[in-house]
Amino acid sequence: MEESRIRDFIILGGGPAGVSAAIYAARGMIDCFILDTATLGGQLNWTETIENYPGYLKISGFELIEKFREQLENLNVEIKQFQEIQKVDLTKQVKIIETLEGTYRAKSILIATGANPRKLGVPGEKEFIGRGVSYCAVCDGAFFKEKNITVAGGGNSAIEESLYLTRYASSVTIVHRRDELRASKAYQEKVLNHPKIKFIWNSVIEEIKGNDRAVTDIMVKNVKTGKIEEYKTDGVFPYIGANPNTGLFKGQINLDETGYILTDETMKTNVAGVYAAGDVRKTNLRQLVVSASDGAIAATDAIKYLDEVFEENSIPA
Ligand code: NAP
Repeated sequence: MEESRIRDFIILGGGPAGVSAAIYAARGMIDCFILDTATLGGQLNWTETIENYPGYLKISGFELIEKFREQLENLNVEIKQFQEIQKVDLTKQVKIIETLEGTYRAKSILIATGANPRKLGVPGEKEFIGRGVSYCAVCDGAFFKEKNITVAGGGNSAIEESLYLTRYASSVTIVHRRDELRASKAYQEKVLNHPKIKFIWNSVIEEIKGNDRAVTDIMVKNVKTGKIEEYKTDGVFPYIGANPNTGLFKGQINLDETGYILTDETMKTNVAGVYAAGDVRKTNLRQLVVSASDGAIAATDAIKYLDEVFEENSIPA
């Protein structure tokens, strides 16, 4: 199906950045929709609780997504879910987005495609996904009741998810490559003296081992001494950061050396009419509140761009 209509603004990604952009775009009376490869919410789908978003002392990811959905419905914003983007062409004034379901055209687009969990890249990781290796504590934590779990990483995600896993597990061992956590001080306080949480410092997981049913052991290397030791574990949750979902845009817009999209302070990329917002963008703080703010800024600038570049009712070349 090829849509003949040229939209004002197509938002790629229905996480907090995309949702916020849609709210601003709809209130700015421009013709837009959200396109997502999965459902609305992005990383909120696997976020247990949020305690640092203004207005909520505590809210679950799912509750916040429902509020997003309600707000978008109220503004009549269409959400096209489960649309795998195959190709984009950003080279002309009208941008083209091809999915398995259809081809869409827009005068401006927002890339808010987020980031995916980075893999450890060690033997056994791929083989044991679903049998002990998981990237989603909220989704899989309950399968590890009274088990001993290992988490890799020292950032906010590793700590947040370790705390969540203590609800189920007998013990959570955090393997971190340095002797100091990257996570915020507030998280460090919660975790450093937690009765169920242990640390293996200056170390990385070298291999994940198991039998035909589940993970049983990990090989851990001390990066200072080079010594490798075997530890018993029932599950491994890598939380070592994320890679931006920008493969489709490579060669068409400017990315940094790690693949994040470069923007200016109005979320413009180097291509006119193409914006980026949220975790996919090079930024020094990746938080829900930042994504929401990015989306609002991007949509506001896109409205200005549409006014300046496209005359009313004209079909651009
Ligand atoms: P992150 O902050 O980049 O932390 C990644 C952690 O993994 C770091 O401790 C890093 O070690 C370690 N690491 C990276 N590559 C590794 C490798 N190949 N092998 C072993 N360890 C490796 O990523 P994140 O924790 O996923 O967080 C992403 C963003 O979301 C951050 O900006 C974070 O603040 C934010 N976030 C915020 C909250 C919250 O505020 N509630 C919750 C979750 C995430 P080094 O420390 O040595 O670099």
